[in-house]
Amino acid sequence: MKHILTGLLMISCLPVFAQEVAAEITQEMAKKVIHAGKLIDTERGKVLEKQSIIIEGKQIVDVKPGYVSGDNIIDLKDSVVMPGLMDMHTHLMTDVTPESYTEEFFHDESYFAIKATVNAQKTLQAGFTTVRDLGSDPRVTRELSKAINSGMIPGPRMFNAGKSIATTGGHADPTNGLNYKLMKDPGPKEGVINGRADALKAVRQRYKEGADVIKLTVTGGVLSLAKSGENPQFTNGELEAVMEAAKDYDFVVAVHAHGAEGMKRAIKAGVHSVEHGTYMDDEAMRLMKKHGTYYVPTITAGKWVAEKADGYPAVVQPKARAVGPQIQKTFAKAYKKGVKIAYGTDAGVFPHGLNGREFAYMVEAGMPAMEAIQSATMESAKLLRIDNKLGSIAKGKVADIIAVKGDPLSNIKVMENVSFVMKDGKVHKE
Ligand SMILES: [Zn+2]
Repeated sequence: MKHILTGLLMISCLPVFAQEVAAEITQEMAKKVIHAGKLIDTERGKVLEKQSIIIEGKQIVDVKPGYVSGDNIIDLKDSVVMPGLMDMHTHLMTDVTPESYTEEFFHDESYFAIKATVNAQKTLQAGFTTVRDLGSDPRVTRELSKAINSGMIPGPRMFNAGKSIATTGGHADPTNGLNYKLMKDPGPKEGVINGRADALKAVRQRYKEGADVIKLTVTGGVLSLAKSGENPQFTNGELEAVMEAAKDYDFVVAVHAHGAEGMKRAIKAGVHSVEHGTYMDDEAMRLMKKHGTYYVPTITAGKWVAEKADGYPAVVQPKARAVGPQIQKTFAKAYKKGVKIAYGTDAGVFPHGLNGREFAYMVEAGMPAMEAIQSATMESAKLLRIDNKLGSIAKGKVADIIAVKGDPLSNIKVMENVSFVMKDGKVHKE
C-alpha cells in the first residue's frame, strides 16, 4: 500500500517537477557573455582591458577582446574580473572560539554538519569557489561535498582531508588534555598513528572514506591542549610510510608544521605543502625550493589567535602569543627566497567568509598584489593538480569567475569585498 501511494504521489508531482528541472537546465546551459572592464590574466600576470568571456554550461568556451553581443549579457564593465579564488587551508565544520573547546560535548555531529553548510555558503559569497578542507569529520565533509556538487546547497568545490593524522599526543590527537576517562587510545581510523603499519592503515582508511588529500600534523600546534607548539611529532620512518601509501592513491599531502625540524623531515619525505611554517629556517626554505614544496602561510589565523590569546585555555595562550606574529615575518622571508606560495588562511580558526584578509597581509609583507592573486588562483590550482581545469580564465576551463569593484593592484583590500561570484557557470552573487 505504502509503495503504491508513494508511486502515485511521484506520478502526480512529475509534470511540475519536470518543468522546473527543464527550466533550470535551459538557464544553466544558455550561453552567457561576461563583459569585463578589466580581466586579470593569472597565467601571464597581466591585466587585459575590455574583454568578453563566453560561457556555455559550466565551461568557458572563449575569451575575446572587446565587448561581443549575445542574449545573456552579464555587465561587469565597471569591475575587475578574475578566476574564482582558492583557499588551500580551511575547516568548514569548525568555528574556534573560547567556548568551542567544550562544544562537542553538548552537540551531535549533525549540529556541526549544519554549521558547515552555513560556512560553505559564507566562503562562496566571499569569492572562494574552491577550498581544501584540511581536517574535519570525514562524514560531514564528504556529504557536504556531495550536497554542494549536486546543487542542493551553494558552496565551494571541496578537496577534503577528512580527519587529520597525528601521533599519540600530537596536535591532531582528538583526546589531548582530556579527563583520563575520556582520553582513550585513538588509532589510525581516528587519525592517530604510531609506526609504519598504522601510517599505512591511516592513509588507506582515508582513501576508503573518500578523502581527496592527506593532512598530517608533523609538529605541535597552537590551539591543541598540549605544551609544545613546535616539537617534531613524526619520525622519518612514519613519514616515509605515509608517503609510500599516499603515492599509491595519488594523494596530495599537506603538513601542519610550526617547528623547523618536523618540517624538514616532512619536506625531505616529499610532502606537497607545508602549512603555517612558523619557524621555517633557511635550511627548510632551501629544501622547499629543492623539492618544489609549496608554502601555505595562513597569516590571517596567526594574527587572529595572537589578538584573541587571552580568551583561549591557559596552555594555549603563550603559544598563541608567540606563533601568531611570527608567521607574517616567515612569509616575508620565504617569499623573498623564492619559495612557492599557495594561498591559505586556516578559516575556522577565525570566522569563515573573511578568507580574503590574507591578501592584504601578503602584500604588506612584500608580495606584489598580482602575485598574491596568482597564489590564490593558478598556484593553488597547481598544488591541487587541477590547473588544466581551474586557476585562470581561458578557453576550455571551468567557469569559476569573480569580480571586485576597484583595482586590487592599487588597493588589495578590495579583495575583501567580492561583488560577483560565478561557480561552474552559475551566478551565486550579483
Ligand atoms: Zn588548520
